[in-house]
Amino acid sequence: MLHNGKSIFEWLKAYKQNSGRIALFRPEKNLERLNRSAEKMCIPQIDEGFVLSALKDLIKLEQDWIPTKDGFSLYIRPVVFGTDPALGVKAAASYKFLIILSPVGPYYPQGFKPVPIFVSTEHVRAVRGGVGDCKTAGNYAAGLSAQRDAKKLGFTQVLFLDAIERKYVEEVGAMNFFVRFKDEVATPNLNGSILPGITRMSVLEILRSWGYNVNERQISIDEIMEAHKKGTLVELFGTGTAAIISSISRLRYKDNEIHFSDEHSGELSTKLYKELTDIQYGRKEDVHNWMTYID
Ligand SMILES: *Cc1c(COP(=O)(O)O)cnc(C)c1O
Repeated sequence: MLHNGKSIFEWLKAYKQNSGRIALFRPEKNLERLNRSAEKMCIPQIDEGFVLSALKDLIKLEQDWIPTKDGFSLYIRPVVFGTDPALGVKAAASYKFLIILSPVGPYYPQGFKPVPIFVSTEHVRAVRGGVGDCKTAGNYAAGLSAQRDAKKLGFTQVLFLDAIERKYVEEVGAMNFFVRFKDEVATPNLNGSILPGITRMSVLEILRSWGYNVNERQISIDEIMEAHKKGTLVELFGTGTAAIISSISRLRYKDNEIHFSDEHSGELSTKLYKELTDIQYGRKEDVHNWMTYID
């Protein structure tokens, strides 16, 4: 409810492919995650199979709203929130589950564009043992002041460090974070305070299938700054359903700044963006069996 945040949600997209078929990207993973969030927030479980078939029916019914232009899609927002007419801080007895749909354009209307990132030394997003690994309403309101402060300094997004040692990188607003070193691609391991992104999971699978040396591990901000100094830092990027892949142009930590390029996206980010969107729009065979078709 509004007062104490008994609210969880998901996000995913429906794509109209070139063949005219409508496809969802790994929707079963979103419903699984919704139930994991529900479990932690004392919200009743949904029947994943039933909701997936209801979602498919809904998309079929509303299919005229799915834009066909490249980079466009239908945004899908399942949400669950408590509706008890009471003020007590306890699990609600009644909840509403609804699915909001909205046509969306490409995240970067001027084309795939790298973003400048500010590493917050003041704000943290979540702590182990808390609810950082859930898509629950309060996590996002809690990150807004950090974003506002970063925007004033000319940065689009905030990279959060771990809340305990303020040493290890965790994630960016609503994106998971990847570092490409000279001989390794690394992303923070899911330590309980990081949201387990479905794009993250898919990028890991793609990179492994391409033969990259990929690791999920602790990455300290100092390691990144050092690697940059030594010339072994190749590129940084974020992953998430909204932008799919966001290449990072600049990263500011305290008084140091890593500058890649404001104009050009990293090589691997560009390749991953193309691979994922080619699968989503049906331009490429879905060898991983990730797409669910509405028909
Ligand atoms: C949703 C979200 C992500 C990305 O998850 P995807 O399933 O890849 O869209 C990453 N971090 C946070 C905090 C999120 O809320």
